[in-house]
Amino acid sequence: MIACEVCASSQFRPMFDKAEHHFVRCDGCGLERISPQPSDDTLAKIYGAHYYDAWGLHDNEATVANLKRGTFKFVLGKLPAAQPGDKLLDCGAATGFLLEVARDLGYQPYGLELSEFGAQAIATKFGPDRVFCGELADARFADAGAGDFAVITMCDYIEHVRDPRRTLELARKLLRPGGVLAITTPDAGSPSRRVLRTGWTHYKVEHLFYFNQQNLRRLLTDVGFASVDFHTLWKSLTLDYIGHQFEVYPHPALTKVARAVTRVAPAAVRAFPLPFSTGELLAVARL
Ligand SMILES: [Zn+2]
Repeated sequence: MIACEVCASSQFRPMFDKAEHHFVRCDGCGLERISPQPSDDTLAKIYGAHYYDAWGLHDNEATVANLKRGTFKFVLGKLPAAQPGDKLLDCGAATGFLLEVARDLGYQPYGLELSEFGAQAIATKFGPDRVFCGELADARFADAGAGDFAVITMCDYIEHVRDPRRTLELARKLLRPGGVLAITTPDAGSPSRRVLRTGWTHYKVEHLFYFNQQNLRRLLTDVGFASVDFHTLWKSLTLDYIGHQFEVYPHPALTKVARAVTRVAPAAVRAFPLPFSTGELLAVARL
């Protein structure tokens, strides 16, 4: 058993198995993880060309874009206001929706994205020098590097990386003194996790880690952040979007509920963006 990424304990308790993967929980700090981690092959299949289908981008691009922007406005709204020249790096930038919001708020946007599809979209929107296609450890930009970024954002990112401690250390090095790191991730201490238990919708093979506020604060403090504030993440979602998510990621009970709701709700109601809390946290860490 690999030592806990947060507290170095080697005592992990089994929680449940899903798709032949073992989900376990650290006795020391409550960090939940998949152990052993899925292979590169397994993850590559999940992250293949159809990964963004879950967003419904092909059917309804404008709606999805608006919802994503609404969520990212909430996230960036929790940060200090941008000052002229402030550089923002979004890790796991996908097709660049957060970067669009960041640019509107006055930041110089930079994106890190593993998929060619996403990186291409960012290059088209912001220029090829504003995107790096690859891992954070290898990230290079022509005019920005260590100590240059005012803000780094990781939305639905940290739970996907193989080494969260190293990832947060790398982020700290890229930030300037006083810089801010914003993380959104499933919250293993959230009410939805407590109610849904092993049926929690965030338990997926591509999510290698599940933090709670206590162990994420500990990890961030350990790698050098001075303070951490937590917020409940409110996502802009429509009933149509939620219904689509439950078709792509079926849940034994909730997919039926979602179908029943989308059947009876009028189209205008189904398409109206509402703030939903889906069991994720927003951590704002300052150097
Ligand atoms: Zn631990």
